[in-house]
Amino acid sequence: MGLGPRTLEKLCRAVGRDHVVWDAYDLVIFERDASIAGALPDAIVYPANVEEVAAVLEIAAEQQLPVVPRGAGTGLSGGAVTLRGGLALSLARLRRIIEIDPKRRTALVEPGVVNYDLGLEAARHGLFYAPDPSSQKACTIGGNAAENSGGPHCLYYGVTTNHILGMEVVLSDGSVHWVGGEDPDRPGLDLLGLLVGSEGTLAVTTKLLVKLLPTPEAVSTLMAAFPSIESASKAVSDVIGHGIVPAALEMMDKVTIGAVEAHYKAGYPTSAGAVLLVEVDGLTESARELTAAIEQILETDDAFEIRVAEDPAERELLWAGRKGAIGALGHIKPNYYLHDGVVPRTKLPEVLRDVGRIGEHYRLPVANVFHAGDGNLHPNILFDLREKGIMKKVEKAGEEMLRACIDAGGTLSGEHGIGLEKNAFMPWIFGPDDLAAMQAVKDVLDPSGRLNPGKIFPPAGQIEPKLIARSGVASEARWW
Ligand SMILES: Cc1cc2nc3c(=O)[nH]c(=O)nc-3n(C[C@H](O)[C@H](O)[C@H](O)COP(=O)(O)OP(=O)(O)OC[C@H]3O[C@@H](n4cnc5c(N)ncnc54)[C@H](O)[C@@H]3O)c2cc1C
Repeated sequence: MGLGPRTLEKLCRAVGRDHVVWDAYDLVIFERDASIAGALPDAIVYPANVEEVAAVLEIAAEQQLPVVPRGAGTGLSGGAVTLRGGLALSLARLRRIIEIDPKRRTALVEPGVVNYDLGLEAARHGLFYAPDPSSQKACTIGGNAAENSGGPHCLYYGVTTNHILGMEVVLSDGSVHWVGGEDPDRPGLDLLGLLVGSEGTLAVTTKLLVKLLPTPEAVSTLMAAFPSIESASKAVSDVIGHGIVPAALEMMDKVTIGAVEAHYKAGYPTSAGAVLLVEVDGLTESARELTAAIEQILETDDAFEIRVAEDPAERELLWAGRKGAIGALGHIKPNYYLHDGVVPRTKLPEVLRDVGRIGEHYRLPVANVFHAGDGNLHPNILFDLREKGIMKKVEKAGEEMLRACIDAGGTLSGEHGIGLEKNAFMPWIFGPDDLAAMQAVKDVLDPSGRLNPGKIFPPAGQIEPKLIARSGVASEARWW
């Protein structure tokens, strides 16, 4: 479609000529995120501060343009994809850590700050920011808040919403507001709770006040290898059943172990059917006691090799394998489709069996690498897009895996959000009244429906569960 010269001129005046991109060739860089969906924006705008964000939203309101906020584009549910064209609003230039207050244990940051960089800065004050998505070396705090992201250490510390105290946000009319604050029990409606996890559909975040925690005195990380995914799953339930909630409890299956070892040489035994990474932290004595108790449980559950990291370098290597696992899967196939269902922990073995069966049925390799302690599955369907007609099979297999999670009493997403990938499945878990209530909230905050349109809410008019209701965006998209 393209934007008219007057609109482009206004945008250039608002943020500077160098910070507006509309050349068709350049727009391709924002065509997709890390999911399988893609669509081109009409322009990309890079504001530098809240005033410029507000000015861009005012221009968009005047011209009735869709606006899609964007952090680092690592999202896995199509959240940052400009499905209806319009403006891709990059927050990448808002990347200041404005203040770290060691006494109050808070940080005030802009949304484009990379999660890992906040961690490095906090560490200089003996503090850390707990939510640690595996993409933390790239993803932004603004994206994390929009997706209410999790990460390996969110089992114990809680997901992003538990670590955000307040946010400055801009609504679709360009008005600027502050929600939340430092008081533990704020009066009035919890607007902060509403906005965290709203996937850029209700407001654009321009500042975040986040909690920092004191760096634990001791950290102990162990890797345990099991003959099968069933025995590893049983061990997960048994550890938690003994009243132990480790800081992290992650699982990788045989396919993932092979790919990780080929690349990172993290020391996972390639003969294992599954490995668990378990981490505990706290006071030195209690970390030691918990590690010993966990080792005992894992041994009873058939772990055939248990290795406790002896120094920080060994711990880093064990984690490098886990955090780099998705990239390492490129050794097997060039493309992946990663799903994000949640199941009750005790249902892990049965749902993982279903996932395996579905993969075999469609003749698609599947690698499982996931936050086992939370029952948050991540089946990665591996494929080569150059194979004709493959996308239909991949989407169908993904949908069936998600259905298996729902049938086991689980839900649609643990951390990656609904976005564009799963909005058609929302009627699986919400009735028409629930969906109408959510839409009413959206209508109040974004009356013209231009903020990240086509995300979270099922396609217009769809209020009943449907098996296949996908937009087909993924299949039509271009790939290089
Ligand atoms: C290899 C890999 C591993 C991953 N591991 C994890 C994991 O362990 N846990 C996890 O939760 N996720 C994980 N993810 C998914 C992804 O990294 C997270 O969802 C992350 O929070 C997205 O951040 P981003 O900055 O890339 O946001 P983007 O992808 O750019 O955007 C995500 C959503 O947030 C909205 N948004 C972004 N910034 C703003 C803003 N300032 N205001 C309003 N809305 C905004 C966008 O519109 C979009 O809907 C992983 C992804 C990859 C590729």
